[in-house]
Amino acid sequence: MSKARYPIDLHLHTTYSDGDRTPAQLVSMAAARGVRVLAITDHDTTEALKEARAVGEERGVEILSGIELSTWREKELHVLGYGFDPAHPPLVEIVARFQNDRVHRAKATIAKLDELGFPLDSAAIFASAAGAIGRPHIAHAMVTAGHVRTVDEAFRRFLRNDGPAYVPLFRLLTEDAIALIHDAGGVASLAHPGIEGVDHLIPRLVEAGLDVIEVSHPSHCSSQLRHYRALASALGVGVSGGSDFHREGRAQIGDYGLDDLGALKG
Ligand code: AMP
Ligand code: ZN
Ligand code: FE
Ligand code: FE
Repeated sequence: MSKARYPIDLHLHTTYSDGDRTPAQLVSMAAARGVRVLAITDHDTTEALKEARAVGEERGVEILSGIELSTWREKELHVLGYGFDPAHPPLVEIVARFQNDRVHRAKATIAKLDELGFPLDSAAIFASAAGAIGRPHIAHAMVTAGHVRTVDEAFRRFLRNDGPAYVPLFRLLTEDAIALIHDAGGVASLAHPGIEGVDHLIPRLVEAGLDVIEVSHPSHCSSQLRHYRALASALGVGVSGGSDFHREGRAQIGDYGLDDLGALKG
C-alpha cells in the first residue's frame, strides 16, 4: 500500500454513516499508509469512536473524537467537530435527534420516490445502514434497482437539496452547532467551504466562534487551497484537512490532511 501524503487525516466516514469501511478497517488502512492521527467524522454520529480507539491503540494510531454535523445557515453547511467529549449530554441529545429524524426522513424519501414511479426495497435500504442512514444509502439502492446508472445521477435527478425526492433534515443552526461543540470541549471547523460557496458567511461564523476552516479537501482545487489558507490566516482561525474518505475511488486516506495538529489553532 502506498504511503499517505499527510500523517494526519481529520475527515473520514465509516459504516456508521455512509462509508463502506468499518472503523477497524479504516484505522488499519490508515496505519498501513503511515497515518498517525485520525478523526472519524461520520454524519451526525460518534458511534465509530469506541471501536476506532480500540484498534488505534493496537496499531499506534491516535484517534481524536470527531463528527460532521449537518447544519443550516442559508443552506446546508457541514460543521466538523474535534476533540470534544462524546458523552456531553446536550451533544448526545442532538445526535439522538438526528438519528431519529434520519429514519423518518429516509422513509419519507422512499415514499416520494415510490410516488414518482421509482419503487425501492425499504427493508434492504435500512439493512444497508449500520448507523446514520442518509441519502447515499438510498442513492445506492436506486442504482441496484436499475432506476439510475450512478449515485451521482440519483443525486442530480432526485435527491439533491430541493430535488423532487428531497426531504429536509431537522435544521440545526450553524451557530448553535458551533456552540454545542464548544460546550462539549471541542473545536469547530467549517467543512469544505468551496463546495457550498459560502465565503460571505464565514466572517459571521468566525464571530460566532468558528475556530477552524477546512482547507485541505479533495473538492478544493489548488487556487481554492490558497484562497482558504489565506482567508483563515486573515481571520485569525486555524485550518483543518482530510480526505473525506467514504470508499475507494476518490481520495485515499491521508492524501488530504495536516502535517501538524498545531494548524488547528491558527
Ligand atoms: P445526507 O447526510 O443524508 O443529507 O446525505 C448527504 C451526503 O451525501 C453528503 O454529505 C455526501 O457525503 C453525500 N453526497 C452528496 N452529494 C453526492 C453525490 N452527488 N454523490 C455521492 N454522494 C453525495
Ligand atoms: Zn458522506
Ligand atoms: Fe460534508
Ligand atoms: Fe464528509
